[in-house]
Amino acid sequence: MNKVKVHAPATVANLVCGFDVFGMALAEPYDVMWVSLSNEPGIRFTHIDKYNLPTQPEKNVAGVALMAMLENVPGHKGFDVVIDKQIKPGSGLGSSAASSAGIVVAVNHLVNNIFSREDLVRFAMHGEKLASGVKHADNITPCIFGGITLVRSIFQLDIVPLTAPPMYVTVVHPQIEVKTSDARQILRKEVQLKDAIKQWGNIAGLVAGLLKEDYGLISRSLEDVIIEPVRSMLIPGFDEVKRSCKEAGALGGGISGSGPSIFMLSKEEATAKQVENVMKDVYTRLGIEFRTYVTTVNYKGVEIISE
Ligand code: ADP
Repeated sequence: MNKVKVHAPATVANLVCGFDVFGMALAEPYDVMWVSLSNEPGIRFTHIDKYNLPTQPEKNVAGVALMAMLENVPGHKGFDVVIDKQIKPGSGLGSSAASSAGIVVAVNHLVNNIFSREDLVRFAMHGEKLASGVKHADNITPCIFGGITLVRSIFQLDIVPLTAPPMYVTVVHPQIEVKTSDARQILRKEVQLKDAIKQWGNIAGLVAGLLKEDYGLISRSLEDVIIEPVRSMLIPGFDEVKRSCKEAGALGGGISGSGPSIFMLSKEEATAKQVENVMKDVYTRLGIEFRTYVTTVNYKGVEIISE
């Protein structure tokens, strides 16, 4: 076999209270990638979308992730990679992670699955370092594992896939730019003990709520007293969206990754659609262009579609 097609899903990092540790894969949107083995050495990228992403392997997150992987694959030759990106770069929906995760899962398939999913996360993290300056795994991990994941520790990689009750996810992506590096820079470096206590209560509460399928506990735990108060200042309409979506019945939600996308979880599909209307109303009134999705949690992660 020398060719594979994959779908690489969007992901929501942080899940409100779990900055840099929680993440969730979405059923939609997803990127499509085709990867073929070639006798001609080198990695060649073709983009068939409108985003003009770099084609040099060392500037494309997928190239960097693949190069990290190939250091561990003896006798590899060349690769032709075609990317149809549906997850807009800089959306906060794990666009870079989808490319990094997608390519390592695809190539693992082509080399007879010699690597574990943890190995693939380690390789893909090199791509995240290129995109944001730091190695983080909160998007990569759910993208590869599917579902909702906890990265308990990154340098001794310790991944904990979490089960969850059925939930719908509504996402709004206001078409404004928030640079991941800016969103990181404005964060306070120190945390008050009283805030830390609230935050770890919520993190533990969210894990327990997901495992016990306790929607009330999930809802109460979707609170972030450390990151959101600072980062939300970069997203016009954030407070109104959050308040109105909760009034419309959402369990809760917040900034997706470093923004500007905002996500909300709902127990019922009808609520998730109502939440979408609320989001549309707010951004229409603010005169800011936007894109919305009503979707579910994706339990497959990067999916092999055909060979
Ligand atoms: P997101 O939060 O949606 O993941 P990021 O801002 O983290 O978006 O990553 C997007 C950045 O990574 C952009 O600067 C983009 O040019 C760069 N990049 C390089 N290669 C890719 C790729 N294959 N897919 C997406 N982004 C890429």
